[in-house]
Amino acid sequence: MNFQDLIYAKRDGGVLTEEQIRWFINAFTKDEIPNEQAGSFLMAVYFQGLSKQELNFWTDAMIKSGEKLDLSSVGKPTVDKHSTGGVGDKISLPLCPLVASFGAAVPQLSGRGLGISGGTLDKMESISGFNISLSNEQMIKQLKDVGVFITAAGVGLAPADRKMYAFRDVICTVECIPLIASSIMSKKIAEGTQSLVLDVKAGRGAFMKDVARAKQLAETMVEIGNKAGVKTVALITQMDTPLGNAVGNALEVSESIDVLNGKGPADVIEITLALAKEMLELAGIKKDPETALKDGSALSTWKKMIAAQGGNPDAEIPVANKKEKVLAPKSGYITDLDAYAIGLSAWRLGAGRSRKEDAVSKTAGIICLAKEGDFVEKDQPVLELHIDDESRVAMAKQDLDNAFSISAEPKEKRKIVLERIS
Ligand code: URA
Repeated sequence: MNFQDLIYAKRDGGVLTEEQIRWFINAFTKDEIPNEQAGSFLMAVYFQGLSKQELNFWTDAMIKSGEKLDLSSVGKPTVDKHSTGGVGDKISLPLCPLVASFGAAVPQLSGRGLGISGGTLDKMESISGFNISLSNEQMIKQLKDVGVFITAAGVGLAPADRKMYAFRDVICTVECIPLIASSIMSKKIAEGTQSLVLDVKAGRGAFMKDVARAKQLAETMVEIGNKAGVKTVALITQMDTPLGNAVGNALEVSESIDVLNGKGPADVIEITLALAKEMLELAGIKKDPETALKDGSALSTWKKMIAAQGGNPDAEIPVANKKEKVLAPKSGYITDLDAYAIGLSAWRLGAGRSRKEDAVSKTAGIICLAKEGDFVEKDQPVLELHIDDESRVAMAKQDLDNAFSISAEPKEKRKIVLERIS
């Protein structure tokens, strides 16, 4: 195959054959294509897109680049969730054990944070001893015994995506709907789940800045999933303002434990329950998810999961030694609290990383002491910075100059769940 023919074809808006797509994914994964040609080809895909049929071949080739987990021996309905990521998005932490507490198996393969979006694995690693690297055998055993794990995807799972995602990051082709959809869905389909609920975030703190693009991404992923035999539903949820009050790894773990204890912020509870309802429905379990937060069964499953993965479920969650408050410059209602600004500031404090290899701070982050709709008095604390490294504070504070607006009149509350795609 002459790879230049593929580049010409895609550059000029042509449609690739199944054979050409499978050849590209295979050769790319094996490092057989020079970087300048692979980069040029992916940039052509970025601008020209992929037809539905091209996208199905592409995703299937990514899945077949590695192994597919076989969860059939687990003996429970399997259902997973994936979020496209946002600021303060800790929902997997309470959600996965909650759903497992009803008898479903939740094989949660997660990632690390990159940029202002946090990563579930980084959050879980702030729990003392928690192991995020399980073998396939350990995963299956834990699904049988506990019903849920949270772990990193093994190297054998969709290796084409592992390579392509890192490559796209460098050549600036991440924000491309077919490439995002095939990347996410290849991993989720290869993981072997029978059904999947997607939380596609829309807004300033998300990949997809507007609802129209979030909807397009959601529809694309739902179609790929259902075609591949994975029952898939998506909720589009708002990400203009941070989710919950806590932004930062250990801070978000603590907030998740509050939710599992039947407390926690209303928006986190609302999204957790909305996603849980969808997951239980797909798993064929007719139960009200709220009961598991009230009667302690979700918390009990969380503790079992932590213990099964080597963590101490009763260990103190680490807290930063130094805190600093940001005060309201005047009295009034908070009418805007910008997820992007808060995410960026928490990232500068050390909660996130700029390169895959970087370490993150467990304790750095921000607590939003007031949220949109709250009335604050002049000089009342609005934000609390949790500081691990003093040298980061000045930069982190600059991002907060325009992070919130205060007005005499309150603004209408934002809807949290915006749309459902099935
Ligand atoms: N997350 C992924 O796994 N892949 C993408 O392309 C974007 C976000």
